[in-house]
Amino acid sequence: MSTLLEVSGVSVSFDGFKAINNLSFQIAERELRAVIGPNGAGKTTFMDIITGKTRPDSGRVLYGDKGVSLLKMSENRIAQAGIGRKFQRPTVFEDQSVADNLMMALRKTRGPFAVLVFRPGPEDHARITELAGEIGLSDALDRKAGELSHGQKQWLEIGMLLAQDPKLLLVDEPAAGMTLAEREHTTDILREAAKSRAVVVVEHDMDFVRRLDCKVTVLHEGSVLAEGTLDHVTRNEEVIEVYLGR
Ligand code: ADP
Ligand code: MG
Repeated sequence: MSTLLEVSGVSVSFDGFKAINNLSFQIAERELRAVIGPNGAGKTTFMDIITGKTRPDSGRVLYGDKGVSLLKMSENRIAQAGIGRKFQRPTVFEDQSVADNLMMALRKTRGPFAVLVFRPGPEDHARITELAGEIGLSDALDRKAGELSHGQKQWLEIGMLLAQDPKLLLVDEPAAGMTLAEREHTTDILREAAKSRAVVVVEHDMDFVRRLDCKVTVLHEGSVLAEGTLDHVTRNEEVIEVYLGR
């Protein structure tokens, strides 16, 4: 499968501290990838670089079949180019229903002027129903988002990102604060989402990563320490040393 994102030789320092150090990373179209590593390894900074929030000091970040550089693009343009990001804390509109939250996300895809005149048609309502099914909230469409459990809010936010049909979805520590059942459902959502787009998931929970059942990249001190199946990387001596402990 062809490469969707190519990060090569990227470094970024904060006050002389190299948070990302000559990092190279590739992800293919419709690939599911887990990124693990100790606290401070640079996982969130890596996502900040892809989304344009942090600009690297050196290196390249190329995206799409034309290999456009993301480094010259604003955060907004990167999002419009199909890169969606889910932060740790859900940012749903608590006073609005699940359906309205999804509809707002769908409306955003029509651009700044369409937002003003947007009238949802039958196809939009069908898409909301479909999205609710994908995130397991079909029975909660009329409920206020504020009444949802923490896990359900996270799924709603994933649904709002999927409404924008990103080519690359970045998800930072989705399992934090979730019950086991919620974590299991979250892996199902992400695996399903990765059938039609690339999904990069940063996560600490090893059971969660195992259920994702995908290639794993281990970050340490801002570069790739190991890459491969979860079994492969967890057998790696250096990974055991710096991350898993003895
Ligand atoms: P991770 O997500 O893997 O835990 P981060 O990417 O958040 O790691 O952070 C990597 C390192 O960079 C940490 O030492 C962190 O303190 C530092 N760092 C991250 N962002 C900034 C920033 N904006 N300013 C200064 N230091 C930062
Ligand atoms: Mg982080």
